[in-house]
Amino acid sequence: MSIFTKIVNGELPSYKVAENEDFIAFLDINPNAKGHTLVVPKKEENKIFDLSKEEYVALMDFSYRVAKALEKSIVCNRIGMSVIGLEVPHVHVHLIPINGMADMQFMKKEKLSNDEFVVLAKNIAGNFE
Ligand code: 5GP
Repeated sequence: MSIFTKIVNGELPSYKVAENEDFIAFLDINPNAKGHTLVVPKKEENKIFDLSKEEYVALMDFSYRVAKALEKSIVCNRIGMSVIGLEVPHVHVHLIPINGMADMQFMKKEKLSNDEFVVLAKNIAGNFE
């Protein structure tokens, strides 16, 4: 069972920003930038292109809605998107509020306190439609 399935099942905590029947979005615990969010299908699948086309399109649709909430919540140049999955083999889309290329490089990390994560997640969740 992946660490993200444990989050989906409520066995591990997360700073949740959005959820529906098929997807959950929560803040990345080691963010590239403030608001770095992971969008995860509840169904555990390793690689994104192993999803069916319908599942893939639904993931992109949900990610679009989360990205819109991020744009409303965080001052940034734009929302960057990437899919990697080398660390956690459970499909997830990285949505990252960026101001430059360094924010997409998974090297420069932002340190946030528990309170900062809580406030951030609440703000983003409040802008999710
Ligand atoms: P990837 O698999 O795409 O290379 O990276 C996995 C991402 O998941 C990383 O950005 C990492 O910080 C994040 N991550 C790993 N474990 C956890 C966790 O337990 N909770 C949360 N919220 N994020 C995690």
